[in-house]
Amino acid sequence: MDKIKSLSRKTIAIRKRLLQMIYEAHGGHTGGSLSSVDILVALYFEVLNVDPNDPENKDRDRFILSKGHSVESYYCVLAEAGFFPEELLNTYGKIKSPLAGHPVNKVPGIELNSGSLGHGLSVGVGMALAARMDKRDSWVYVLMGDGEQAEGSVMEAAMSAGNYGLDRLVAIIDRNRLQISGDTEKIMKLDSLADRYHNLGWQVKEIDGNNMEELLKTFHSMPLKKDHPSLIIANTTKGKGVTFIENRAKWHHRVPTREEINQAMEELDKQLFENGPDE
Ligand SMILES: [Mg+2]
Repeated sequence: MDKIKSLSRKTIAIRKRLLQMIYEAHGGHTGGSLSSVDILVALYFEVLNVDPNDPENKDRDRFILSKGHSVESYYCVLAEAGFFPEELLNTYGKIKSPLAGHPVNKVPGIELNSGSLGHGLSVGVGMALAARMDKRDSWVYVLMGDGEQAEGSVMEAAMSAGNYGLDRLVAIIDRNRLQISGDTEKIMKLDSLADRYHNLGWQVKEIDGNNMEELLKTFHSMPLKKDHPSLIIANTTKGKGVTFIENRAKWHHRVPTREEINQAMEELDKQLFENGPDE
């Protein structure tokens, strides 16, 4: 099976798993988890230098999920990558489970407690500076939401990254054009994002963030320019993969009913079938 097909298959299976988790836990962030699956799969299975058997290795790459509320896709990808047993996903949202509603760094593979928006890029800048000072080859990747861009601290971090020319820092914006209360362009205009980052010293590339081939090609061409941090504006669909969830703000943290979960699974099973048989 070719690589793209095999990774796409993984994204569909992860979409199924995360929906099941949200359904069983009666809570979660459905839309933003679904939009970010392809980005996370590309990173964890083709890009990041991380080892589930040695998660604290000093030379590892660092990944920060700054949009920490989209935790369900993150947990599913970490389990699939081998950072913890798949069965642990069944405990999500239950009392005493380490898998809380936002990422906590006690869970193997998670670098930073996150979910209070606007913090991830600042920490990523610090990590990239530290790696440079220690003469380590680690890369730092930070995945942010588009609604998150309204947090002032993101722009302060972006300014520092540009100032210090952190070319091993890669920020990704999950540009699904929706946030909790609606259309991002009606709440806080973001269409000048590329120019804003560029003016602070970043190199910027816009891609289809739900297209595995484009994601891999882009990640493999980092840095976009030597001595400059890279920003990938990943245009995605909030709720990607399930038509009645796609592009609907109410699905930011809505939980599917029994009928809806059945319908979603049917749709995703169809995608798995169309993607081709298991090999
Ligand atoms: Mg968004």
